[in-house]
Amino acid sequence: MSSHVTHALPSYLDKNHLGPWGIYLEQVDRVTPYLGSLARWVETLKRPKRTLIVDVPIELDDGTIAHYEGYRVQHNLSRGPGKGGVRFHQDVTLSEVMALSAWMSVKTAAANVPYGGAKGGIRVDPRNLSRAELERLTRRYTSEINLIIGPNQDIPAPDVNTNAQIMAWMMDTYSMNKGVTATGVVTGKPISLGGSLGRTEATGRGVYVTACEAARDIGLNVAESKVSVQGFGNVGGTAARLFHDVGAKVVAVQDHTGTIVNEFGLDVPALLAHVAEQGGVAGFANAQSIDNDAFWSLETDILIPAALEGQITERNAGQITARIVVEGANGPTTPEADDILTDKGVVIVPDVIANAGGVTVSYFEWVQDFSSFFWSEDEINHRLERIMRDAYSAVSQVARDHKVTLRTAAFIVACTRILQAREVRGLYP
Ligand code: GLU
Repeated sequence: MSSHVTHALPSYLDKNHLGPWGIYLEQVDRVTPYLGSLARWVETLKRPKRTLIVDVPIELDDGTIAHYEGYRVQHNLSRGPGKGGVRFHQDVTLSEVMALSAWMSVKTAAANVPYGGAKGGIRVDPRNLSRAELERLTRRYTSEINLIIGPNQDIPAPDVNTNAQIMAWMMDTYSMNKGVTATGVVTGKPISLGGSLGRTEATGRGVYVTACEAARDIGLNVAESKVSVQGFGNVGGTAARLFHDVGAKVVAVQDHTGTIVNEFGLDVPALLAHVAEQGGVAGFANAQSIDNDAFWSLETDILIPAALEGQITERNAGQITARIVVEGANGPTTPEADDILTDKGVVIVPDVIANAGGVTVSYFEWVQDFSSFFWSEDEINHRLERIMRDAYSAVSQVARDHKVTLRTAAFIVACTRILQAREVRGLYP
């Protein structure tokens, strides 16, 4: 007897219990009507290709043994090896890493760099670990995921709470396990180890470049604009500095230590120095401290969520005064908030375009490592800006053609590229 049921519903397709993965699935549903005959393959996008959950045991400095839960998810490898960061955070979940890996597939395709999408994470608050414990954790995690990573398989990079030092330990662990010097196994490495100039600032620079493109589209003069930033780490801090450099007023910054405002514009270089010393924006002179919730209703032109997922929700979207929201973080806006902002006429530059600068310079780093020939910082920034502008312009053209948001347009462009590759490769065996 023939059946029309070609697959049973996997647990991770139950939309009621999914967290960030549920948001991603909804974004795929929104784009499916625009995929034409490629929609036949859309199920591919709703199932991660490979999901690895690992136990990461380490000996703490006091002699006790601690176990941490780690993940590496390869969402899609149709267009190239897996690519995506590793996040160390106490609240990381499998659902979150699955969603982040899927957003990497969309991001690499939207930016048109030759990778699939992957992501990793460990459920740990790294601030509670000593440097030696952090190194042991990183090395054991790398050994556990060693089976599925590699310069042509899957290339990790920094993400929330991970940095160049952690990438150096990952590169060393992988290299020692394999008996080779494999600089191309991770990106975001220190410059002394095959890292690329401009990589640290790349995500914030891409946020700035795409914000300028969106501002031009709506006739907003960036140099005279007010900017608010949530998250003052690598992404938010760099973006704030670039806006400040052209004369824009960074009027508010929020991070895990609090929210500060100055309607005449914060002194961003001084704030960066303060954060480097104190670990957060709280206590910065020449600014007023306000309630965290009040951040969302402040008068501003450009709002940059550059922290974690799920920050702009149906609870605060209605209060937002900005004309442009540029998603430095991955997944900061829920679909309900997306609709509220769109109805208000707010332009959202979606994460998969806005923060693609990081993975783009990761791509440059990987290419430089393979060829053992390194480019100047000017060359890197120039190429980065060109890729970001091209990506933005392809997406905004599709948005105009189909009268859809930039997010749906980015998903149309990206999912079409992924599924074209999927279709032409065909099923094996
Ligand atoms: N973690 C960054 C992101 O979310 C960069 C990933 C990479 O460079 O591979 O895009």
